Amino acid sequence: MKKIKLLTIPLLISFMVFLSSCKNESLTTTKGTVYTTIYPLYSITKLIAGQNITVEKLVKDGAEIHSFEPSSRDIAKITSAKAVIYLGLVDEWVKKPLEGTKVKIFRASEGIGFVDNDPHIWTSPRLLKKIARNIENFLTSLDPKNKSYYQENASKLIASLDKLDKEFSSVVKNSKRKEFLIAHPSFGYLARDYSLKQYSITGVNEEEEPSAQKMKEIVQLIKEKNIKYILVDPNENLPAVKTIAKDTGVKIVNIYGMGIVNSSQAKNETILSLMEKNLKAFEMVLK
Ligand SMILES: [Zn+2]
Repeated sequence: MKKIKLLTIPLLISFMVFLSSCKNESLTTTKGTVYTTIYPLYSITKLIAGQNITVEKLVKDGAEIHSFEPSSRDIAKITSAKAVIYLGLVDEWVKKPLEGTKVKIFRASEGIGFVDNDPHIWTSPRLLKKIARNIENFLTSLDPKNKSYYQENASKLIASLDKLDKEFSSVVKNSKRKEFLIAHPSFGYLARDYSLKQYSITGVNEEEEPSAQKMKEIVQLIKEKNIKYILVDPNENLPAVKTIAKDTGVKIVNIYGMGIVNSSQAKNETILSLMEKNLKAFEMVLK
């Protein structure tokens, strides 16, 4: 017994030191930080905040937004942060831990209505412009003396989104096909805004495998509409896609819905560069 006790004391002490160092680290490193929940908000906020504000995201690289749950470490980070920006619908989990704290919380989808429980508003360049203005206004409210800096960054971003919007319109106008098939339906708002029809394999909030009946319907649809391509986010793993491709001969084309973003994308891309890749993908599948 004595031996055990002697061993546990230093262990306990080192554990307590470890705990207090964790606590200090999260408090000192997140104090001035603006946290975002999902990658699209992270990327937009970073583009507008520039060098002025430290921006972080909660949903980790490689994690999927629809099933994400924050860890206790995530909660410790946000409850000591300066502010938190969330989208709504897909990341409501961020609200409860912030109740009663001084952390400012902002819903970036303000003024945008969600349709049919579909959270993917960031894949439409037109809605992205609105999100960007919302975030610009929020960052200005946090740091009013740098108003013109945020305004300038947001205007640059919006100019790029205007260009992207025009390019999407022209791709659709010059394409024969007005529908597309996608594994996970993250482009419903883009479809709505550019008068396209989105067909998908999974539901809007999950990545589950389709039923045998649904598989039959998709194969039928491909034949009926003579569909040549299926849009797939390479970060998503959906074995049914490979089966459909094998059975029907449709070719897989990469698309980036940003529901899962890997670490290389998080580091080297922005929402703009990913949307430019998406434009090329649509150009190909709508041809
Ligand atoms: Zn999604």
